[in-house]
Amino acid sequence: MIYPIVGYGSPVLRKVAEPITADYPNLKQLIADMFETMYAADGVGLAAPQIGLSIRLVVIGYYPYNEESKSYGDTAIEHTLINPEILESVGEKTFFNEGCLSIPDIHEDVLRPEGVVIHYFDADFNEHTEEIHGMFARVAQHEIDHLEGKVFTDRLSSLRRTMLKRKLNDVAAGKVRTLYRMKRG
Ligand code: ZN
Repeated sequence: MIYPIVGYGSPVLRKVAEPITADYPNLKQLIADMFETMYAADGVGLAAPQIGLSIRLVVIGYYPYNEESKSYGDTAIEHTLINPEILESVGEKTFFNEGCLSIPDIHEDVLRPEGVVIHYFDADFNEHTEEIHGMFARVAQHEIDHLEGKVFTDRLSSLRRTMLKRKLNDVAAGKVRTLYRMKRG
């Protein structure tokens, strides 16, 4: 099932999401639906608050880029993060151009650590502590922000945020066109 995506300005995107346990109802189906929703909207990550659920659940899926052949692989790299937390940052901070399914039409360079150590549970509730880098680390940090009630535009300079204010107000007012279904509230 494809869920509508909750847009910027909705209160659920500003709440700190609650941890879940292995007996969360229909968890496997929910995870499958979140992947389906993310791919249908051409996203590389989706956090549960973005479908209106204030729980600490994130899905990530992207096609790996091969520097040598300058092409993307055929098989998506997928991760499910349950109750994830960032334990520490690793390496330099770097800029990367980010977007968000909840904030259509805005893409901005965001400064974040290149790597992080994260602790999380996977879809089978196996516990992991891992140092991650690259695309996985970038998307995980963006999505974990959603669980803390933050969005990527919060991390921009105040000047940049002022410049984006009208566009953000338009999104909050539902005045935006997307190829996927969105909902307010
Ligand atoms: Zn996002």
